[in-house]
Amino acid sequence: MVLSVVPNFLCFLLLYLLGTDERFQVIVVFKHFFYKNYVGLSLWPFIILKEDSLKTDAVLINHERIHLKQQRELLIVPFYLLYVSEWLLRTVLYMDSYRAYQNISFEREAYANEADMQYLSKRKIFGFLNYLMR
Ligand SMILES: [Zn+2]
Repeated sequence: MVLSVVPNFLCFLLLYLLGTDERFQVIVVFKHFFYKNYVGLSLWPFIILKEDSLKTDAVLINHERIHLKQQRELLIVPFYLLYVSEWLLRTVLYMDSYRAYQNISFEREAYANEADMQYLSKRKIFGFLNYLMR
C-alpha cells in the first residue's frame, strides 16, 4: 500500500515543482472540447486550446498561465471547488451566468492582467483575493 503511494506522490511532487517554473507549460489542442466562443482552458498542468493557431496568442496564453498559478497555489482541487462555488453564487446574484463567469475573482484577476507579460513574475501569492470584492 505505502509502496504504491510513494512513487505516485513523488511524480506529483515533480510535476508540481516543474509547474512552479513560469516557463513550464503543457499546451494541448482539442478542437471539439469547447462550449460556445470559449477558446482556452487551463486544467493544471495543461493549457487546452481550441485551435493550433492560438498557441501564438500571447495574451490568451498569459491569461491561462495566471489560472495555472491560481490552481497551483490552491493545491489544484480547492481551486475548482472555489471557482464553481463563486460562479454559482454570482449566477444567483446576477441572474446571468456569463456575467457571473466574468466576475469570478479568478477571472477578474486573469482578465485584468492578461496583457501584462510581467504580471506573473511580480504577482503576490493569492493575488486573486484582491479581485474578490469589486
Ligand atoms: Zn479565464
